[in-house]
Amino acid sequence: METLKICEIFYSISGEAPTVGKPAVFIRTSGCNKQCPWCDTQYHNTGVDLTLDEILEAVRKLTTRCKEIIITGGEPTIQKNISELIRFLRKHGYKIQIETNGSVMFPRAYNMCLIVCSPKLNNWVYDFRKYNKADVYKVVVDNEEQVLQAIDQFGTKSLYLMPRGATREEYLNNAPRVIEWCKEYNLRFSPREHVVVWDKERGV
Ligand code: SF4
Repeated sequence: METLKICEIFYSISGEAPTVGKPAVFIRTSGCNKQCPWCDTQYHNTGVDLTLDEILEAVRKLTTRCKEIIITGGEPTIQKNISELIRFLRKHGYKIQIETNGSVMFPRAYNMCLIVCSPKLNNWVYDFRKYNKADVYKVVVDNEEQVLQAIDQFGTKSLYLMPRGATREEYLNNAPRVIEWCKEYNLRFSPREHVVVWDKERGV
């Protein structure tokens, strides 16, 4: 039976670009192939194995009205049955946004999703232009050099800059200078609405 290790499933609004403000059910898969020291979801390593039917049932318990799903992590790509989950949810009428760090080759089923890639500037291991093509690149930047690096790697058309911010305080400290870089280079800004509203709380 096909299962995936799932950390949590919850109903909220999208807090980040490009769907910020939209209600969505979040499916957070367990585990990641990176160990970023700044990771704001370190609890992603916990989880339970759920079948596709159990995942769908959990989603339906939260809402039958909202048909938007955001699959996030951890890193969803490392789940053996991620493609099966995507096809299964699409078959049941859901639109899917998938979040990824982009370091693993995207499975073909990702073509059925809006692919939002958040590459880690200190951790790039692939030439993204060659191996992986995302719909949106959402890059956390700490300095202007990284802004230029992001532009060089991803161009400006699908690029969002996002401030580092695992807590509300950190986000509010960093957001103003990232907005200034967005103005300077004519790039879009991605907020972190869930951090502004709920700070470090999880499952919201
Ligand atoms: S890639 Fe993302 S989920 Fe994985 S450790 Fe880094 S910040 Fe956390």
